[in-house]
Amino acid sequence: MSSLEGKGVSDLSGGAVGVASFRERFRGSVLCSGDAGYEEARRVWNGNIDRRPFMIARCSGVADVIQAVALGRTNGQLVSVRGGAHNAAGHATCDGGIVIDLGPMQAIRVDPAARIASVQAGATWAAFDREAQAFGLATTGGTVSNTGVAGLTLGGGLGWLMGVGGLSCDNLVSADVVTADGRFLRASATEHEDLFWGLRGGGGNFGIVTTFDFRLRPVGPLVLGGMVIHPLTHAKNVLRFYQEFVQTLPDEAEAYAALMTSPDGVPVIAMLLGYNGSLEAGERVLAPARAFGSPLADLVGPMPYTARQSMIDAGFAAHGMQRYWKSGLAPALSDEIIDALVDGAHRFSSAMSAIALFWIHGAATRVAQEATAFGTRQAQWDINAIAQWINPPDTDGHVRWTRELWGAVEPLTTGNAYINHIAGDDRPERIRSSYGSNYDRLVAVKNAYDPQNVFRLNANVKPTVARSAP
Ligand SMILES: Cc1cc2nc3c(=O)[nH]c(=O)nc-3n(C[C@H](O)[C@H](O)[C@H](O)COP(=O)(O)OP(=O)(O)OC[C@H]3O[C@@H](n4cnc5c(N)ncnc54)[C@H](O)[C@@H]3O)c2cc1C
Repeated sequence: MSSLEGKGVSDLSGGAVGVASFRERFRGSVLCSGDAGYEEARRVWNGNIDRRPFMIARCSGVADVIQAVALGRTNGQLVSVRGGAHNAAGHATCDGGIVIDLGPMQAIRVDPAARIASVQAGATWAAFDREAQAFGLATTGGTVSNTGVAGLTLGGGLGWLMGVGGLSCDNLVSADVVTADGRFLRASATEHEDLFWGLRGGGGNFGIVTTFDFRLRPVGPLVLGGMVIHPLTHAKNVLRFYQEFVQTLPDEAEAYAALMTSPDGVPVIAMLLGYNGSLEAGERVLAPARAFGSPLADLVGPMPYTARQSMIDAGFAAHGMQRYWKSGLAPALSDEIIDALVDGAHRFSSAMSAIALFWIHGAATRVAQEATAFGTRQAQWDINAIAQWINPPDTDGHVRWTRELWGAVEPLTTGNAYINHIAGDDRPERIRSSYGSNYDRLVAVKNAYDPQNVFRLNANVKPTVARSAP
C-alpha cells in the first residue's frame, strides 16, 4: 500500500474520502502503478527522467484540477504539474507523489475580432498555431511544435515572434488559476495583479493555470524562414559573422544558430533565419547571412508560418529519448565562447546532440525589468548544450561531454539562465540569481499564494512565511 492509499482527503462537504473515492469522483482518468496506460503516461520528453509517481491524475477540467490539488495538499503529498512534459529537468513528474496532468485539457478558442485566444493548459504550440492561423493570427510561441503552451509561457517564452511581439508571457492578457488552497482565481492587469505579474516569467510557482488568454497579432500565412548551413570546419568564422549580423537586424528579423550533425551525418553549423513582415523586405534583410561564405545549403524561402514553427521538430520533438541539457545567458558571443562551443561540437558524443543559440532582442528586451517576473530583459544569447542519445547505459559519456563543454562555457556567461532551461542539477543559488532583481517580489507573491510551497517542483521560489513542506 502506498503512503497515500490509507489516507483521507477532505471532500467539498468537509468529510473525508480515500483514494478509491477520489477515483470515483474524478471525471478524468486516474492511473497508478499497474494500471493499463500508467507506464506510457509517466514518460516525459526527457527519457533520462525515469520517475514513478504514486498517481497520475489526468484532469478533464477545472473541477478535476481543484480536486487533485486538494488531494495533494491534504495529504502533504509531493505534487508535480504537467503541461506538455517538455521540461528537461523533469519537473512535470516525481517519484511517489501526484502528477497533476493537464494533458487532456486541450480546448482552444480564437476570437478573431478581438484577436484573443483562450487556450487550455494541456495544449501544445502546434495546436495553438493551427487554430490561430485559421484566422492569420499568432502569438510568440516555442520553436518546437509539441512543446507545451503552459510551461513555456509561465517561464517566459522565446520564439520566432519575440522581436516584434515580445515573449510569450508578454502576450498573456489573463489566466485562470487554481491556487494551492483550492481557490479559483482570474489573474489579469486588474484582478490579482500580483499573481498576474508572477505568472509572467515566474514559472509554475504560484498555482495551476487552467486557461491562458493571449493577445494575437496578424502573421503570415506565408513567412520567410529556413536555414543556411555551413560545414562545422567553418563554424568559428560563421559564428563571428553571425554575432555581428544580429546586431544589425530590425525587430522583424530573427536569427538563431545551431551546431549539430546533418541527417546525412555531416557536422555542420546552421544559421536559422526568419522574418516577420513582407517577403520582399525579409529577402533584403536576410540577404547578408545568405551571401556569407560558401554554404553547403541555403534552405531559406517562403513557407507557411506553421511550417516555420515546426522546422526544427525533427531534431528535438521525439518524446522519450535520453537527454542532458545545460544552458546559460551571454550578452555577447566572445571569441572565447565561440572557441569553446566549436571545440565542443567537434567532440559531440552523439550525432543527435546539438548546441543551440537563441538571440533575445527587440520587443522582448524593451519591456521594463520590473513589469513582469521574467528575470533578464537585456539583449543576449540563450546558449544551450543538449546531449541526446538512445541507450540508457551510455548516459555517463554523454553527460561527461555536456559537463566538459559547459565547464568551459559557463565561466564566460553571466552565470544566469533562462529559468525554463535550468537543469535539474543546477544550484539553488543559480535559480535565484536567474530571476534577477525580481526575486524578492517573487518571494512576496509566493508567500501570498503558496506559503507551504505545494508547487515546488519547478525553478523554485522559496516562501519565507511558512516552513516548506518536507
Ligand atoms: C525540444 C524543446 C524545445 C524547446 N523550445 C523552446 C523554445 O523555443 N522557447 C522557449 O522559451 N522554451 C523552449 N523550451 C523550453 C520549454 O519552455 C520548457 O521545457 C517548458 O517547461 C515546457 O513547457 P511544458 O508545458 O511542455 O513542460 P512541462 O514539463 O509539462 O512543465 C514544466 C513545468 O511548468 C510548470 N507548469 C506546466 N504547466 C503548468 C500549469 N498549467 N500551471 C502551472 N504550472 C505549470 C510546472 O512547474 C512544470 O513542472 C524547449 C524545450 C524543449 C524540450
